[in-house]
Amino acid sequence: MVYNWGINELLEAKKELLKRYKYETNPSIKKELLSVIYNLNETIKEEKGQDEEIVYLTDEERLENIRSDIERYKTYYSIVSFFQNSLSKHYDKIDYLEELMIEKVGLNESYGKITGAKVSNDRAFALTNLFYKKHMPSLYPIFESFYKKRFNSVRFIESISDQTVANATYIWPTKRYFMNCLKDDDISKISNLIHEYGHIISFALNPKELYYPRYPMFAEVASIFPEIIALYENDGHHDETQLLYERYCNLPALLGNSIQLVLHSVVLNLWEENNYQLNDKFFHDLDYYYDTDKEEFDSVLNTYIDDQGIYIVSYMVAIELFHLYKIDKNKALKIFESILRFPYDGNLKEYICSVLNIGEHLEEESALLIDDLSLALKRKM
Ligand SMILES: [Zn+2]
Repeated sequence: MVYNWGINELLEAKKELLKRYKYETNPSIKKELLSVIYNLNETIKEEKGQDEEIVYLTDEERLENIRSDIERYKTYYSIVSFFQNSLSKHYDKIDYLEELMIEKVGLNESYGKITGAKVSNDRAFALTNLFYKKHMPSLYPIFESFYKKRFNSVRFIESISDQTVANATYIWPTKRYFMNCLKDDDISKISNLIHEYGHIISFALNPKELYYPRYPMFAEVASIFPEIIALYENDGHHDETQLLYERYCNLPALLGNSIQLVLHSVVLNLWEENNYQLNDKFFHDLDYYYDTDKEEFDSVLNTYIDDQGIYIVSYMVAIELFHLYKIDKNKALKIFESILRFPYDGNLKEYICSVLNIGEHLEEESALLIDDLSLALKRKM
């Protein structure tokens, strides 16, 4: 069987939605359907190659965006800077590992180059299925209903967009989904499928969060936690060092993002001090204080907490769940499921903070991971 979908499946999905829209009498559902149709239209446009034009913002506009970002996500910024702070303590070790990996594996290469481990699409699916069946049994019936539709809902393609290894669209009124996954034989394909199915399951349980997310910073918990558990459980009996490496890869990437986000507030302070002017003085001050250059400043401006902070905050929740999982598997799974099933009109953030202390075991878990990987690598040399 081939895993594939294309423009025809999208158009068919749209036709079905339009039909529902036509016969729906409840105005609020009608409105919701309309927003689903709008989103699907965007996907159709992308598929046709009529991607939205890139909007170029001026530096002032971008700063203004960051300012409103900070305003909206004030409480999350402290979580992000906590992350950055905790991981900075391991900076030397991370740096050492990075150098070692570049030397051993090469830049932008996968660890699979060393182990030679390869996984076919069918095998990746079989392991994804096994994972949800064995480790998340209470969510399995939902997963299974999507798994059955995989042949015309998932496709493996050469490229998605830079940095993206997989993504998925979910259409709640018809329980249809479309998933893209990078076409390669690396075992990370299993993680990518498990990750995206985590999103699909969570959207199926809480469709509104997809279109009207109130707690976007926690949206990746649904996908990152299963991913970490799968690497930890290793149902595929893969090389343990490779799996440690896969888990570790999150750290340097998230650390880089967190630094950029933390820099936001610094840049903003300067901007305010400079009466919201982006003139030579502002850039001079920036240079002086942070020894930065225009290019680096540019990349700071291009970092939004919506895009990057979500992975950091969600990762931190996932790490607390993972820590608990190793002590009390059932309790961790129960909390995870409660997060996914959390009523839309409740306060998710309050709930998460009442059952987990975000950041409590971050340093400990990171140190454990770094040490385990360093040790495993040394043994291999
Ligand atoms: Zn995701």
